[in-house]
Amino acid sequence: MIADRMKNLHPYEPGEQPKDREYIKLNANENPYSPSPKVTKEIIKSSKKYSQRLSLYPDPDSRELKRAIADMLNKTGGVLCRAECKGRKKSGSGAEVSPSQFDKLPFNVTEEMIYAGNGSDEVLSFIFYAFFDGNKELIVPEHSYSFYPVYAGFYQIPLNKVSLNTDWTLDKAKMVEAAKKNNSSIIFANPNAPTSLGLTREEIKEMLKNSPKDKVFVVDEAYVDFGGESAIPLLAEFDNLVVVRTFSKSLCGAGLRLGYAVASPNLIKQITIVKNSLNHFPIDYVAQRAGIAACSDVGYYVECAKTVAFERDEFIDFLKKQNWHVLESQTNFVFCKKDGLKGEYCYEQIKKKGILVRHFKTPGIEDYVRITIGTNKQMKELKKIILELK
Ligand SMILES: *Cc1c(COP(=O)(O)O)cnc(C)c1O
Repeated sequence: MIADRMKNLHPYEPGEQPKDREYIKLNANENPYSPSPKVTKEIIKSSKKYSQRLSLYPDPDSRELKRAIADMLNKTGGVLCRAECKGRKKSGSGAEVSPSQFDKLPFNVTEEMIYAGNGSDEVLSFIFYAFFDGNKELIVPEHSYSFYPVYAGFYQIPLNKVSLNTDWTLDKAKMVEAAKKNNSSIIFANPNAPTSLGLTREEIKEMLKNSPKDKVFVVDEAYVDFGGESAIPLLAEFDNLVVVRTFSKSLCGAGLRLGYAVASPNLIKQITIVKNSLNHFPIDYVAQRAGIAACSDVGYYVECAKTVAFERDEFIDFLKKQNWHVLESQTNFVFCKKDGLKGEYCYEQIKKKGILVRHFKTPGIEDYVRITIGTNKQMKELKKIILELK
């Protein structure tokens, strides 16, 4: 009854969503803040005033949303906040963001350079299908986003998992060397998960220069707005680069299911061909409207990202004082462990007290827990629990 290909499926295990009690969820790297009020308003408007619109199919190519995304990228230089997120400074709320805070991109992002999809997970899936061959190893870091091996299984793409350096940074040289050897593609998250560390744009440029030019090179920037450096400016020089983004983290919209890719129009066309062969209408009308509204309120999301970054750096200081080992973070989560306590034990004890954090059983990282940064109140609660942990 069941097709042979099902044997290749090893589904992704998301952060748990238990229903038995109200937990504080710090296990899926969701943003603790609501989307901009403009988004909520637009959702109400699109379901009431435009209810007639819902009986019609949405724009299959989300053109207005793509334009809104392109505008947002052009306005922000590709990233919501960089220096501010590294500065350990508390942000003033509601402050207007001046355009001078952002770097300028070396080119204008056009609608043709954007592919918009139903969450970046779907975008990634189409990228795997469009660009990675089944007879070629794809280069991934040993510890990175755990959906990559899942898609590799789904599409029957062999992986070459390159181990990280002992300080948890990506082994750039080894990855590039492996890609050159077999003329392979590379994919990784920057900043990386679950390690929270990022490469600079200069480092990515070096990797791109030395990697095969006729193979697609994917940088997944799910967390870049919390203090990372975007590779988007490098699209001016490298037409084999694909940058993947999501509305789920810095744009407070995990429930909306919106993600996108930025790349040369030629590569975007290929991703669109995959979409049109699988699901013509991946983004529903309401989500398209909500996404457009989100892109128009950059100032709101900059404030959210700054607040999360401030809270994160406070939490890192706290953990260090409690003699935890914790990595610096350019993301909205921290990767940490306490000598003498097992990762799984920490996860269980914290869960007993009502907070969910993430523990991976994967060999090599099983001593650690990954903790999403929540609101100030949630983090106070967590700090109390950690002080009692033994
Ligand atoms: C959260 C995350 C995604 C998935 O984002 P969605 O848009 O919610 O599907 C993709 N890549 C990385 C590295 C992530 O952490």
